[in-house]
Amino acid sequence: MTVGRGQLLQPISAERAEQVLEWVAGISRRPPAPIITTTEAPQLRRIAMRRSGRDGGGGGGAHHAAGVRDGNGIIFISHTGDICPSGFLVVPVGNVRTANVVDVYREAPLFLQLRDADSFHGRCGRCEYRWMCGGSRARACCASGGDPLAEDPLCQYGGSA
Ligand code: SF4
Repeated sequence: MTVGRGQLLQPISAERAEQVLEWVAGISRRPPAPIITTTEAPQLRRIAMRRSGRDGGGGGGAHHAAGVRDGNGIIFISHTGDICPSGFLVVPVGNVRTANVVDVYREAPLFLQLRDADSFHGRCGRCEYRWMCGGSRARACCASGGDPLAEDPLCQYGGSA
């Protein structure tokens, strides 16, 4: 499933994505380790944590910084002033011409839901890594036809239980 300006590209499978992210996690541990970041692929955190022997943790507070994703540590304001969870999750929940952007980020129901990993559905909702990963909310929304809390189809993990 493609997101944003990638609509003309062919998506890779979840299985292939796992292989790519395993490769990325591997080279990021080899000295001199490059600094690698991913866009809309927070699953790398799960793989990196598993490789380092740490678990996913259950509480939101302990992994808040690691859980940056659409609407959680990210906000996007369009050229017309629309306030959205990210540049890939372009779901306006207000406009800077009529609303305070800080209030929208803190209090808009969609932002609150996006920051509550326990509200996620499907595999992401069952996954013990949901607070520090949480999947791409933009891809989940696109793939599900409009549910930003749906499971991320690029990841087939879905928890160890
Ligand atoms: S199932 Fe969802 S929360 Fe769990 S690792 Fe995959 S994308 Fe992340």
